[in-house]
Amino acid sequence: MKYKAYTLRNFRSIPQFENIPEEVKRNIEVVGSVLPFKVNNYVLDELIDWDNYDSDPIFHLTFPQKDMLVPRHYNKMEEALDNLDNKKEIRQISDNIRRQLNPHPAGQTDKNVPSMNGRSLWGLQHKYREIVLFFPTAGQTCHSYCTFCFRWPQFVGINDMKFAMKESEVLVNYLQNHHEVTDVLFTGGDPMIMKSKVFERYINPILDNIETTNVQTIRIGTKSLSFWPNKFVTDSDADDFLRIFKKIVEKGINLAFMAHFSHPRELETPIVEEAITRLRNTGLQIRTQSPLLQHINNDGDVWADMWRKQVNLNCIPYYMFIARDTGAQHYFAVTLEEAWKTFRKAYQQVSGVCRTVRGPSMSCTPGKVQILGVNEVNQKKVFTLRFLQSRDPEWTGRSFFAEYDKDAIWFDELKPAFDDHFFFEEEEELLVAEE
Ligand SMILES: *Cc1c(COP(=O)(O)O)cnc(C)c1O
Ligand code: SF4
Repeated sequence: MKYKAYTLRNFRSIPQFENIPEEVKRNIEVVGSVLPFKVNNYVLDELIDWDNYDSDPIFHLTFPQKDMLVPRHYNKMEEALDNLDNKKEIRQISDNIRRQLNPHPAGQTDKNVPSMNGRSLWGLQHKYREIVLFFPTAGQTCHSYCTFCFRWPQFVGINDMKFAMKESEVLVNYLQNHHEVTDVLFTGGDPMIMKSKVFERYINPILDNIETTNVQTIRIGTKSLSFWPNKFVTDSDADDFLRIFKKIVEKGINLAFMAHFSHPRELETPIVEEAITRLRNTGLQIRTQSPLLQHINNDGDVWADMWRKQVNLNCIPYYMFIARDTGAQHYFAVTLEEAWKTFRKAYQQVSGVCRTVRGPSMSCTPGKVQILGVNEVNQKKVFTLRFLQSRDPEWTGRSFFAEYDKDAIWFDELKPAFDDHFFFEEEEELLVAEE
């Protein structure tokens, strides 16, 4: 299958769009002028059920919907498209709306960018002691775009917000100076958008210098298995990729695909099964993760089905995330209590081999916070929370309480249950004061 992409420019020529009402196309045009939009022929032909597109989870995953923008933003954008001819002016309106959608949640632009010799290393993020995120320039796009994505400022080309780095030499240099780092995560966008030749240019310097670092795991965050599994089966460089992965594994490195799957349907095509088998044969591991999203997968049965299918294909369930506070969060949001219920409903109906998954988890400024439960302590209803990861390694694994709030959808709405501050806030202030 040859890759064919559709964006705002040409989506009206999507073959399946013949019987789609004009109103739906109009909504795509308006909302797609703000949020990222790109879809490809694999998603269109193999994943979306066109007879029920309106309620189809993959349609909601990839096509902008009217309610993803609040009415105020929708109207503003529609008015601009109707009345302005000047592309630059239209662009200013959409950029302005984008800036109001919290494009860099959880301190991504400031707190997590490391520096060396007084220079900020854009293209790297180092938030948790043992793992560095690497954003190769050539991986800043995806095979198709998810409408909920918090990486979206990288695709829509607001340049001053773009993280990028040209050479992995800077990464290697950083790793040589930071032996606390055991894991490197290639992320993007989707690093598996790269051709094998380009990927090799990034990976070889790391492999060549691995002995001078403490790197033991290389992870690749990717949605390619959902959006373009052909990458590892029929693309002209599919075998080259397998060879590179094999080479990494044979170096004694734990190579892990952090595969993003949002719905069991993404695991059901013959080609994704074949891609997984071929990848697993190189010796790499596949771990899976996804956010929990209204309109896409907010159903315990769907997650149980998805985890079971993943394990049957030799993939390891890893994280269930709560949708971040960015972009169209209001559209996808699930309350914290509901997220916990959905997680439990799924967790209870699978066996222990699927329960390697952790969640529901929020990636927020102090760390990854898991909702362990809704409990009553001293006659007070509380959320029991726990750090799965934290900015200060001392906090990891610690649990704490927040006041129960039936409407809360994100961490920053929570208040300490028994204190005037959370235990980590005191230390956070100290940290800030030191800087
Ligand atoms: C989730 C995350 C990681 C990876 O954390 P693990 O728990 O080791 O999977 C690394 N960096 C950032 C910024 C993250 O949000
Ligand atoms: S594949 Fe990943 S980075 Fe790309 S749009 Fe989807 S969530 Fe975002």
